[in-house]
Amino acid sequence: MLIFPIKKTWFDMIDKGIKKEEYRGDTPYYRARLEPFLGQEIECNLRNGYSSASPTLKIRARIEKGTGNPDWGAEPGEVYYKLVILDKERIEPETFIIKARRCKRCGGLLTSKQAVEDGYGHVCKMKTKAEIEAATPDPNQLTLFDTFESEE
Ligand SMILES: [Zn+2]
Repeated sequence: MLIFPIKKTWFDMIDKGIKKEEYRGDTPYYRARLEPFLGQEIECNLRNGYSSASPTLKIRARIEKGTGNPDWGAEPGEVYYKLVILDKERIEPETFIIKARRCKRCGGLLTSKQAVEDGYGHVCKMKTKAEIEAATPDPNQLTLFDTFESEE
């Protein structure tokens, strides 16, 4: 997946559907990446920043070559690789979509790393463990971990 960094002004205009083309200079860097796709549709990401947590738009674009709209950042008369935007979708950075984890037994919010791994808060883990041991003839036959896995 190609990822193109983009200024906030243009990112916001594309996000709002106002700017329908993105321009990249006819440089060796972009020639290598875009020339093979001339006349074709590609999927790529436009990212306002350089980290994986930066605001990102996933777009489907047709690659063309030619002059662009000065209102959308093109210099008049300059020839660019043009990403003609056909579709766009806002991608939420992964760091923001990790869901809060809750205890499988009581629904309480899990705050420790161990609790998130267990799927239970400490007290519920002890209670559950005691129940499993009481219900299991030989506790060594069934590890706590196996039992938790089977509940998924
Ligand atoms: Zn609990």
